[in-house]
Amino acid sequence: MGLGEGFKFVVPGREPRAREDHTYQLAVVGGGPAGLTAAVYAASKNLDALLISKDIGGQTLLTSDIENYMGYQYVTGRELAAKFEEQVKKYPIDVAVGEEVVRVEPEGEVFSLTTSTGKTLRARAVIVATGKRSRPLGVPGERELVGRGVSYCAVCDAPLFPGKDVVVVGAGNSGATAVVDLLKIANRIYVVDVLPEWRADPVLVERILAAGEMVRTFFGHEVAEIKGESRVEGIVLKDRDSGEIRQLPVQGVFIEIGLIPNSEPVTGVAALNERGEIVVDCSCQTSVAGLFAAGDVTTVPEKQIIIAAGEGAKAALAAYAYLLGKGG
Ligand SMILES: Cc1cc2nc3c(=O)[nH]c(=O)nc-3n(C[C@H](O)[C@H](O)[C@H](O)COP(=O)(O)OP(=O)(O)OC[C@H]3O[C@@H](n4cnc5c(N)ncnc54)[C@H](O)[C@@H]3O)c2cc1C
Repeated sequence: MGLGEGFKFVVPGREPRAREDHTYQLAVVGGGPAGLTAAVYAASKNLDALLISKDIGGQTLLTSDIENYMGYQYVTGRELAAKFEEQVKKYPIDVAVGEEVVRVEPEGEVFSLTTSTGKTLRARAVIVATGKRSRPLGVPGERELVGRGVSYCAVCDAPLFPGKDVVVVGAGNSGATAVVDLLKIANRIYVVDVLPEWRADPVLVERILAAGEMVRTFFGHEVAEIKGESRVEGIVLKDRDSGEIRQLPVQGVFIEIGLIPNSEPVTGVAALNERGEIVVDCSCQTSVAGLFAAGDVTTVPEKQIIIAAGEGAKAALAAYAYLLGKGG
């Protein structure tokens, strides 16, 4: 039985498939660099595998310029995701895109995977490669104005703000990348961070400083509120030292204050660290036999595409060895 409507299949000429009446050898959850690489390695070992994900590409879809993935001196995130997808398409594994896995649990010798629409899938081994998502600010006005001036993706949404005044919250690499993207589009860019200085790579900071007065920083400040009726009209800032409150009229708010791991499907099942990352050993094995994890959702240091892809490969090979040990 297929999962039916709601799933798009990435491979032309075949039906989307995630069979509820079947126990897969391996299920890979997540279609970012880690999950896609795991799927290719699983397929190359002839594993009866399922790749299930909300999207294909993961965070690479939010990335404009990639200059550190081997083999490409420069590639956009979307181009790289398309290349990954093309490679997965060559293999006859089941791929289901468009639905969320909300729970992964051991049930005797197999794992059950429950989707957000209540479907249940089964596999003898699972690789969780669900990556990370943007951390919300948690201030009044934020949730109400998402998509109406509040954005978590400068690459996706910067073009919607030509000639506008915007604020970027966060002065790390993500925030600085957002500012660089906005330099070509916005009128004035305010940067707000609770810390006293930039924490981004020097090459990014240099590009921002070269823009002169177009960028104004409010370091040592926090956003207290995002204001607006039907769209963003401004933000309220608080000076962390003096307590002084000021308002800035802006039409866009880009929130770039870090990422949180999408480890909820295995919370309470596998061990997590204090940041909510899935604890793995050097073979991507979690605290539960047969349950593997790879990429940004794990405790592996440094979150990069090439690292996530390498971890995905390792996880698939480790899962293959595990299944061999179990007799397939
Ligand atoms: C703005 C930005 C710029 C970056 N620039 C670079 C760069 O230049 N170079 C570099 O090397 N790295 C860069 N990175 C980091 C890089 O994108 C990540 O390290 C990499 O994408 C991690 O891959 P992943 O597969 O572990 O996770 P992700 O890319 O996060 O993919 C996770 C996948 O899991 C899916 N998923 C999540 N939860 C579920 C669920 N419950 N059920 C089903 N599917 C689920 C998602 O839809 C997604 O497909 C950047 C990141 C950002 C945000």
